[in-house]
Amino acid sequence: MQPTEPLLRVNNLVIDYSQGKSLFHPNRVAQPAVAGVSFEIAPGETLGLVGESGSGKSSVARAIVGLTKPAGGEILFEGTDLAIANERELRVARRDVQMIFQDPFASLNPRMTVGDLLTEPWRVNRGSLPRSEWASGLATLMNQVGLAPEHARRYPAQFSGGQRQRICIARALALRPKLLVCDEAVSALDLSIQAQILNLLKDLQEELGLAYLFISHDLGVVRHISDRVAVMYRGKIVETGDCEQVYNRPTDEYTRALLAAEPSLRPWDRPAGVASAS
Ligand code: ADP
Ligand code: MG
Repeated sequence: MQPTEPLLRVNNLVIDYSQGKSLFHPNRVAQPAVAGVSFEIAPGETLGLVGESGSGKSSVARAIVGLTKPAGGEILFEGTDLAIANERELRVARRDVQMIFQDPFASLNPRMTVGDLLTEPWRVNRGSLPRSEWASGLATLMNQVGLAPEHARRYPAQFSGGQRQRICIARALALRPKLLVCDEAVSALDLSIQAQILNLLKDLQEELGLAYLFISHDLGVVRHISDRVAVMYRGKIVETGDCEQVYNRPTDEYTRALLAAEPSLRPWDRPAGVASAS
């Protein structure tokens, strides 16, 4: 890979659940859920993807990690098109690209201890980490996400929502990925916990050089963490640019409407030096 090449390049991605037919109007061609989306993510960069519910954000995320088959376009990871990659190339890419979901409870097997959940990726991906290094690897992972060593023996139900998301993040990090796709990863959490998890993701990015595709319907959250932001509307990206530019000088009509409808800014959005009104 050339140093200037992006880590991920999505080219004209199309995802169509209806195969072109409108469910309720069989004679009318339905608009695909994702209708030609293109963007790039550089190593270590965070691209925010915002847009209202139903705009196609999760479909893009699922296609990148291989959970949804695109109807067209390319998903180039380190130059390899995942849509036409062979088994070996796909296995490598599946390790390098991990995903975190909105509901940590649903993605954690309730019968497994945290220790088992976090070592499972090494068990499943043979050769990823020698067994003799699992104990130290587990300790490192738990420390990285702010879990205490004794948490390894507990089950997911014994944790709060924020702690469960920490477990999911640790699990996603087990195989040392280069890109983390975070789909509404903090949307179900209380505001103070959201801030903690966002700061954790920022710290991990600095420490590990991770790139993020950070997806949320919440503009405040996306602004807090992103270098660049892409705005999605009805299956298309309508605007993309540096975070400050898109938030302060949006050029697209829909972006402006979205910003105008944004609920009051989160406490962390206040410019530095401006005291709290309360
Ligand atoms: P977002 O994450 O922005 O809310 P989604 O990607 O989940 O958007 O959905 C985009 C569109 O695709 C919506 O109209 C949704 O109803 C539809 N859709 C999503 N997943 C499926 C699916 N598995 N089968 C059929 N339609 C789907
Ligand atoms: Mg979604």
